[in-house]
Amino acid sequence: MIIVMKPNATKENIHGMVKHLEKVGLKAHLSTGEDCTIIGVIGDRKKIAGLEVGMMDGVEKTVRITEKYKLVSRNFHPEDTIVDVAGVKVGGNAIVVMAGPCSVESEEQLREAARAVKAGGARFLRGGAFKPRTSPYDFQGLADTGLKMLRKIADEEGLRVVTEIVDKDDIDLVGAYTDLYQVGARNMQNFQLLKALGKAKKPVMLKRGLSATISEWLNAAEYIMAGGNENVIFCERGIRTYETFTRNTLDLSAVVAVKELSHLPVVVDPSHGTGRWQMVRPMARAAVASGCDGLIIEVHPHPEAALSDGDQSLTPKNFNALMEELGAIATVMGRKL
Ligand code: PEP
Ligand code: MN
Repeated sequence: MIIVMKPNATKENIHGMVKHLEKVGLKAHLSTGEDCTIIGVIGDRKKIAGLEVGMMDGVEKTVRITEKYKLVSRNFHPEDTIVDVAGVKVGGNAIVVMAGPCSVESEEQLREAARAVKAGGARFLRGGAFKPRTSPYDFQGLADTGLKMLRKIADEEGLRVVTEIVDKDDIDLVGAYTDLYQVGARNMQNFQLLKALGKAKKPVMLKRGLSATISEWLNAAEYIMAGGNENVIFCERGIRTYETFTRNTLDLSAVVAVKELSHLPVVVDPSHGTGRWQMVRPMARAAVASGCDGLIIEVHPHPEAALSDGDQSLTPKNFNALMEELGAIATVMGRKL
């Protein structure tokens, strides 16, 4: 349930409501907007069903919420959330671009990629150090060594770091080097990992599961927020469909849906979303036009030699060209890059 307070509700009215909810064993989540305060009620469903607060002082109306996710819901928090990732704001007017290789392979490779993406205007360096590969015989990532390289080279270039975490026991290790934890598609419903990230001190980017519905995705984010970490960013990266021409089917309608249902920022990954570098530029342009808050793009200095996902990686030259196109589209959208 949400309780919408009247625009002229006093601090005492709001405080009184919070106290009342706590007394009956429920939690209040306050969202203070320009016009009014909204109180989201969290807790036992039966208790919420029995609540009679519509007549209390300062209450405009109460609205029953049928979805299971609450903290993630725009009903609970009508205004857009801006997630501050080490000083870079995701979800505000600026569209934030994260770019870099699929995997961290070597210092030379990463530095070359980092310089290129920085020159193009990216704010984050991406790169996997723990790679969840379909085959156990494929390159699994450089682990700690890769994390150290990411931090060092991102710092050299003035970039933030985003990298994947695959194991809840690695939260401190990965957190020591990254600015933003990435939960990969394969772990979207790894609830132990999500719960642990709920206690983590850094923001989390939650990629959509390979065949997750939007509702399942939002509920997965609720796990992180329910644990106390409210800095969550969604990432649409394509879903498994019957189509085989593309690696996945990039669901740009999900950007619109999630922006409607949730207040959290949405980033799009056209690299994994298509699996083909030729499609990355058009889909990145479409993603910005669809209203996303950022992009995560694979860029490799030598895609043909990449240890993972070379087929979907842009060359620095193509990345640069894309960034120029995105600047123009962002302007049309009333945003900047
Ligand atoms: C990645 O970003 O390199 C990755 C493995 O992504 P996903 O989890 O979307 O497949
Ligand atoms: Mn990849």
